[in-house]
Amino acid sequence: MAKDGSKPVILWFRNDLRLDDNQALNAAHLSGRPVIPLFIREAETGAAPLGAAQAWWLHHSLEALDGSLLKRGGRLLLASGQALEVLCTIIRDSGAEAVFWNRRYDPPGIAVDIRIKHELEKQAIDARSFGGQLLHEPSRLMTGSGAPYRVYTPFWRALEKTGEPKPPLDAPSKLRLASKLPASESLASWKLLPTKPDWARDFVDLWTPGEEGAQERLGSFVEEALDGYKENRDYPAKQATSMLSPHLALGEISPARIWDATRGLSRRVPASDIVHFRKEIAWREFSYHLLFHFPRLASANWNDRFDGFEWRDDGEGFEAWRRGMTGYPIVDAGMRQLWRHGWMHNRVRMIAASFLIKDLMIDWRRGEAWFRDTLVDADPANNAASWQWVAGSGADASPFFRIFNPVLQGEKFDPAGDYVRAHVPELRGLAAKYIHRPFEAPKSVLDEAGIILGQTYPEPIVDHARARDRALAAYKATRDAA
Ligand code: FAD
Repeated sequence: MAKDGSKPVILWFRNDLRLDDNQALNAAHLSGRPVIPLFIREAETGAAPLGAAQAWWLHHSLEALDGSLLKRGGRLLLASGQALEVLCTIIRDSGAEAVFWNRRYDPPGIAVDIRIKHELEKQAIDARSFGGQLLHEPSRLMTGSGAPYRVYTPFWRALEKTGEPKPPLDAPSKLRLASKLPASESLASWKLLPTKPDWARDFVDLWTPGEEGAQERLGSFVEEALDGYKENRDYPAKQATSMLSPHLALGEISPARIWDATRGLSRRVPASDIVHFRKEIAWREFSYHLLFHFPRLASANWNDRFDGFEWRDDGEGFEAWRRGMTGYPIVDAGMRQLWRHGWMHNRVRMIAASFLIKDLMIDWRRGEAWFRDTLVDADPANNAASWQWVAGSGADASPFFRIFNPVLQGEKFDPAGDYVRAHVPELRGLAAKYIHRPFEAPKSVLDEAGIILGQTYPEPIVDHARARDRALAAYKATRDAA
């Protein structure tokens, strides 16, 4: 049936809250139809609920997107409910004949989208989906035998072999936006922001949600920190990583745009830094590849040998970990950074996760859930794949028997203790020699720093050496039983 070019196209935004390098938007623009930009707060897709920290981010990101659309003469329409019902209502009210969106790759999201496409097509609506959230479709990169990759290095090689990703698309400078939109819900009525208490008050010091903030972050990273990235990225006290993760999580910037920004820099930035950074972007691709081919990544051990592992039910230990009160300064600094800024440095995420899983022997899924609720960059693929990586139960994971010593890790990666001092104020007065092992400091040193162990700062909640032996014994029992 011939379509009427004056009938609107609905541009359904999801985790792609940007105008730049947005293939669905570009296609809607090129169709010449008036565009209805829509965001749906979806009811019950089967996906894990939006975490509280990311809800804060979403609020500001939607505001920013609305602002960008306003500059082009339009508004973002907000609606909530089952996506199919919402779309059908808007189609009926606006006479739209097409719905475009960018693909998402979390399994519940995929299931919803397949159903919607099917239903809309039955109604002769032009329902089209596009790529761009990843560099490559997860179904495209496969091993020679047609199986999914299980190991990162061959995955990376395959990704390299496919050649440079397509150059990103610039945002259209003008948009023909539909002038008459159906009534929108108000963002405030969604209550995405915390109120009493406003635990997100410090987030604004660090973050600027929205695509402009993402572009600025990318620009300053490439300018100031890409040179030296490979070496510096492991030191949490340095501002040495891009901090693009929350922007990527809600799609305020595309991986192709990030990749593109690292092109043509070889005169100024060592190739090793550029490659290393691109390899991290490829870890994100690999995590999505795993999630796509193993939909239960966040809920089940990828390696089912771990199904028999005897996790401990340690409510007090979990509480101490969550609150950053374990008595191990690097772990506590990380957990407090997470609470304060909704983000934690990658090296410290690994140390904190290892502590929960191995020192406390608490199920990695509890840690995954806490991170999902508190990270502004909570990502269904990266979070699940990373937790399983630390647990040893994941694809190409760190072996279980490699157990981080939180004191030695702290001393290696935060040698002067600056990171700990920034996030654990009660240890601020302690000299570098003891900052990662306050429990070994002589009383006179503690007195001078104003620290009373067990009162102003906790004693270690476990003895690391003993906890390590306990974890290894449990692991051996699981392995022997398998
Ligand atoms: P950069 O070093 O600047 O890297 C650039 C981008 O590459 C990141 O933004 C991210 O998209 C990707 N990347 C970097 N490292 C990894 C990695 N190990 N795995 C997958 N992608 C990576 N990352 C998330 O985006 N969301 C999460 O929910 C998440 N949970 C994690 C949980 C644990 C236990 C661990 C150990 C890691 C987790 N990560 C997660 C991965 C990593 O810690 C963050 O992506 C990174 O710290 C973000 O900071 P950045 O943007 O400055 O990273």
